[in-house]
Amino acid sequence: MVLRELGADATPVRRESELDGVTGLVIPGGESSVMDKLSRTFGLAQPLKARIAEGMPVYGTCAGLIMLADTVLDAMAGQQSFGGLDIAVRRNAFGNQLDSFETDLDVPELGEPPVHAVFIRAPVVETVGPRAHALATLADGRVVAVEQGNLLGTSFHPEMTDDYRFHQRFLDTVRAAE
Ligand code: GLN
Repeated sequence: MVLRELGADATPVRRESELDGVTGLVIPGGESSVMDKLSRTFGLAQPLKARIAEGMPVYGTCAGLIMLADTVLDAMAGQQSFGGLDIAVRRNAFGNQLDSFETDLDVPELGEPPVHAVFIRAPVVETVGPRAHALATLADGRVVAVEQGNLLGTSFHPEMTDDYRFHQRFLDTVRAAE
């Protein structure tokens, strides 16, 4: 896994006791409505919200970005997020026609070269509130990467490429917070 390749002591977090032992968290891609249900069923949602509020660094990719968003558009009925990022995201924003695609993104904070981004049934950030800021946009201006303090989120999946600059940025935040 990417975090281990970058020298981090990474471990899966599925329950509260495992969350207690980590100083940062990556919420991966997957299906946000399932993550929501499981995290509430297993009692992880509330402690995780508390850790986010305390400033734990968290990086969410794709479904993970949805889980970090304060507002989720086109959510399943009753679907909740952990929140933390002052943004509204729209799930499955590219529809069936353009389910998955790849593109190169300029990310000024990461410098050159552009990031090759892989989107899979991806969300977009429709609104960036005053506490968050955009790190990257598509050519049409839609926001696909955001940061707010120790929280980082991307609509795409850097772990599917060999460019780990977003994960490195997250780990830098974790080390700075320790
Ligand atoms: N469409 C998924 C969701 O709504 C996200 C897809 C992904 O993580 N690649 O949660």
